[in-house]
Amino acid sequence: MIVKMEKIEHIGIAVKDLEKSNELFKGIFGKSHYKVEEVESEGVKTSFFEVGPNKIELLEGTNENSPITKFIEKKGEGIHHIAFAVEDILSEVKRLKNEGFIVLNETPKKGADNKLVVFLHPKSTNGVLIELCQDAN
Ligand code: ZN
Repeated sequence: MIVKMEKIEHIGIAVKDLEKSNELFKGIFGKSHYKVEEVESEGVKTSFFEVGPNKIELLEGTNENSPITKFIEKKGEGIHHIAFAVEDILSEVKRLKNEGFIVLNETPKKGADNKLVVFLHPKSTNGVLIELCQDAN
């Protein structure tokens, strides 16, 4: 099997109140987030922290139908997804589908931080929402 998944790109954490959580995580990491970005199509507002070589994404739902709002209603705040960097997202989607994984969106969507993203359904991944992301340029 050829593995084309690279490092963990970031870990996504669902929060109710982005501003409060920015302060909370600032206390944990000892530094502020470096950007805030709204992805209107997904109904989310995000902020990013850099911790050494790692990135943490906080996500707040901006409306009732946002997947983040629904996630928090069901499970509460907490780790929402793990994102892996991939070099070629389309070939990864193909490979994972062939392996029997359920791909939530076969056509990559524009995510935060200038990425093209695809999600795998947690039903097929032991309950973990996995995001594949590729740099958009
Ligand atoms: Zn993400």
